[in-house]
This record gives sequence, structure tokens and C-alpha cells, in this order.
Amino acid sequence: MSVLGYIEDVYAEICRRNPTESEFHQAVAEVLHSLAPALHAHPEYLESRIIERLCEPERQIVFRIPWVDDHGDVRVNRGFRVEFSSALGPYKGGLRFHPSVNLGIVKFLGFEQIFKNALTGMAIGGGKGGADFDPKGRSDGEVMRFCQSFMTELHRHLGERTDVPAGDIGVGSREIGFLFGQYKRITNRFEAGVLTGKPVAWGGSHVRTEATGYGAVYFAQEMLATRGKTLDGRRAVVSGSGNVAVYAIEKVQALGGSVVACSDSSGYVVDENGIDLDLLKEVKEIRRARLSAYVEARPTARFSDRGTVFDVPCDVALPCATQNELGEQDAVALVKNGVLAVAEGANMPCTPEAVGIFREADVLFGPGKAANAGGVATSALEMRQNASRDQWTFAETEDRLATVMRQIHAQSRAAAETYGGAPDDYVLGANITGFLRVAEAMTAHGIV
Ligand code: GLU
Repeated sequence: MSVLGYIEDVYAEICRRNPTESEFHQAVAEVLHSLAPALHAHPEYLESRIIERLCEPERQIVFRIPWVDDHGDVRVNRGFRVEFSSALGPYKGGLRFHPSVNLGIVKFLGFEQIFKNALTGMAIGGGKGGADFDPKGRSDGEVMRFCQSFMTELHRHLGERTDVPAGDIGVGSREIGFLFGQYKRITNRFEAGVLTGKPVAWGGSHVRTEATGYGAVYFAQEMLATRGKTLDGRRAVVSGSGNVAVYAIEKVQALGGSVVACSDSSGYVVDENGIDLDLLKEVKEIRRARLSAYVEARPTARFSDRGTVFDVPCDVALPCATQNELGEQDAVALVKNGVLAVAEGANMPCTPEAVGIFREADVLFGPGKAANAGGVATSALEMRQNASRDQWTFAETEDRLATVMRQIHAQSRAAAETYGGAPDDYVLGANITGFLRVAEAMTAHGIV
């Protein structure tokens, strides 16, 4: 059978066995469609069914999370941890607390994480977890009780050499603190390396908070450099206003660019004078308010809930909110307005149709597995510091992050060329590089 026929068959079988998990199907399709040239070069991977094994998580944990809200009412949520691949190291990946979380979402994220983590070149496997809990409007006490109940179940599956969660949407340093506290209490161990994204004061790494956003901007910078361009004086649009978006904005500004718009689930803000980062942080991180509060404090800005943030003309677009937020219409608008580069700060924010439009128009496109790998790479640096009971300076850690992002960029380009694509087909290059690393380790480990 031809390699393409084999891939189609495997994909059809995955869809059949995992019905209703549309985001998982989308993530698998994107990877499988890149792998034909790698499978031609390694026919032995067909025989050992590496693809089928990779698409089936090693373990999937689904559990009940009962907790009591501030009114004394009992609440029940559903928790997940999908331990996808331990070929290269302990399962590694964040936890997402959001009402949209279900098994299909966690599987798509976990699947992406395998290749992203492999691409960093560090010893980390792939996993992801979370719960359909909505932290919006919940008091600190409610969030603490929820996190404690979540960890009471999950702790038995974790360990610094087994499975190491971190944050994602809805899970920041507050939640990591509560989760770590409960893990420590249950196990009676200060096992710092069991969670990453910890505050710097008790085992965290400098730059972890900033890493995903900074890394995405470094990646955009590297892509632009291949065409003799820089971020200096460029207009950028960033979707989202959470952790990834905030630090992407900070880094674009530090490199001389101007971020003229950002968004949240209620709409978007356009500020032609450049987003005021202190104000944005106060609104989103301290007050946990909607973006309209930004405009109230800054009369030069306007708020809109018509269209999307990608309608705002820009040279560089950084989708940093959530999956499938940037569709065909957005891509058409960006291309019409002359966008040069798009780097995914979020996981799979661009739909396949949007990615196709960028390719067609020769827009530089950095897929999340490469462009947002800075977060998990810095988590791996945090694990390294925990293992050696050390703490590096901010400058040293940022330097290491920048090096990892440069390597990911260079290796993706090289692999794309080696396997018959254009050097700036970063989707092809990133998928193949990540896949080959995992496949090599899986082969060495035998059929397990
Ligand atoms: N949630 C982040 C991601 O999507 C970070 C994961 C981690 O640091 O383990 O890569």
C-alpha cells in the first residue's frame, strides 16, 4: 500500500474509534499529512505501527471532582489527565480549567504536546489535563477547594519522574500554588519538580511566566529575519489578553514594534498609541475584569465586539487566545491588509483553512508546536533547576530560552528542506523533526 493510502486509512480508523473528538481529529490530520516524506524514508515505522501507537494515549484518566462552593452548595466537575507519550521523558504538559474542556480537547492538546516537547530537544514526554471548571467569578477560597479536590485524585498519577503538569488556560500561579500545596500535604514530600510554573520564591524558574509569549515573538523575529526584516517599527496584533498575550505584547514592544490591538472573549481593544501594558495587566491580572475596563481608563482606545481583532491592519499577527480562533475570514482580512508573519502563541489557534490561505499568500506561518514551545521549554529548564536545587538568574534563563527558540526555528527549516518542502514550511519541518525524535526513541524501547 502507498504511504498516502496508509495515512488515510490510519486517520479514518482514528476518527472511527474516537467519534465526537473533532479537535483531536484536526490535530492528528495536521500531523499525519506532514509525515509522508518521513515515512518514505523510514518504511520500518509502518511495520512497527509507530503512528497507530502514537495516536493512542498511553493512559487516559477521567475523574470526579466534588467540591463545596461559598454558599455551601456541592458542585461536581470532571477532571482529565491524558498521559500521551513517555518516549522521551516524563509526561509533560499543562492543565486547563475552562468550561469547554472535554476529553477530545485534552487529547488534541496532549497530542500536540508530544511533538512540541520533542522539538525542544529536552527530555520531556507529552501529556495534558484539566477540568471543565470555570474559574471566572469564583472566589480564591472556591478555587483553592477545587484545586485541592482535583489534586486529591490526580496526585497518585504524578511524580517528578512520572508526570509533571503545569499551567494552561485558567491555571496560573495561584492555581499551581494550591495544587502544589495539596500534593505536598498528601505525599509529605517537597517534590519541587512535580509541577512547573511555580512562583520564583519557592522553586519556580525565572522567565517561566514570560516564556510562552517571549518565545512566540522570538520565533516571529527569526522568521522575519529570513526575509531580511525585523520587528522594529512594525504593527502587531495580539489576540487574547492572558499570560501568553501579555508577555508577547511586552516583547514586541521591547523589540521596537507597536501592538495596536488585543482581545478577550467579550471583544477587542484597538489602541493606536500602543497597548498600555501596565493598564492591561491591572485590568486582566489584578481586577480580573473584562477588556472594556481598559477603554474606560484610556480614552484614546476603542472597544469593539464587531468582527475580530484580526480585522485590524498589521504586519505581524500573534494569535494567543485559544484553538480555532482564527478562521478563513480572518486570514483573508490579514492577507488583504498585508500581514507578513503569523506566529501561533496559543495551541492550534488557526484553522486548517486559515493556514492554507497563509501558505498560498506566502505569509510566514509559525505553527504552535514550534512558535509556542518556549513555555514548555522553560518548564523543562525549571525541572532542571529543581533537580539540581539551583536557581539561575533571569538573564541566564532568558538566554537559554532564546537559544532553544533559535534552534527550533533552524531545525524546522532544515527538516522541511531535507524532506522536500520549502524551507519556510514550518508546519512540515516542525512535525517531522518532532516525530523523528519520538519515533527513534519508541523504536529503541521495543513494542511497549
Ligand atoms: N500549557 C503550556 C503548553 O501548551 C505549557 C506546558 C508546560 O509548561 O508543561 O505548552
